[in-house]
Amino acid sequence: MHNTEQIYFLALLGIAFLLIGILSGIVVYLLLKSRDKTSSSDKESISEENLSKLEFEGLQNCHFHEKEPGKGSCCMCEKSCCETCLKEYDGLTFCPEHLRTFSENKWTDITNVKTTPNNPEAAIYIYEFKKELWKSDNIPTYIMTHYKINIDGDHIESYVMLYVRSQDEEMLRDKINQIN
Ligand SMILES: [Zn+2]
Ligand SMILES: [Zn+2]
Repeated sequence: MHNTEQIYFLALLGIAFLLIGILSGIVVYLLLKSRDKTSSSDKESISEENLSKLEFEGLQNCHFHEKEPGKGSCCMCEKSCCETCLKEYDGLTFCPEHLRTFSENKWTDITNVKTTPNNPEAAIYIYEFKKELWKSDNIPTYIMTHYKINIDGDHIESYVMLYVRSQDEEMLRDKINQIN
């Protein structure tokens, strides 16, 4: 009799723990959900003016044809291009001018930076470097990302490569080594 009582007690204890577990799970879930809600309402509070500016900076209408919707952006100047203007080649997209730049030059990659899901920010400096080169010196470059699945580590690695014109190679190699 004593034994059965003990078993009941243990069973009840088990059920109690289970309930506590489920309840705390629900509480955590609700907390996370309410946090999501606040962050999405934060987004909604962005003023209409800012929103249209964001859309403009993103993919709005074609840079060359105001009325045409953008289909993609140039990998060198990042201008938005409509279906007619956007040129695709070798997995890259160009505006008409930079497709010419691409075909008239020899290109060399000067970085080969590995990023993984654990360090996605490792290549940010390359994107910033590229933007800066275009903005301040009008030097065309483009970035290609090669993805590789690492079977052993069971994750995706990406190699971010900055391509520059051969004549700029030496100068830009020095420059990017200085900032990194
Ligand atoms: Zn372009
Ligand atoms: Zn266009």
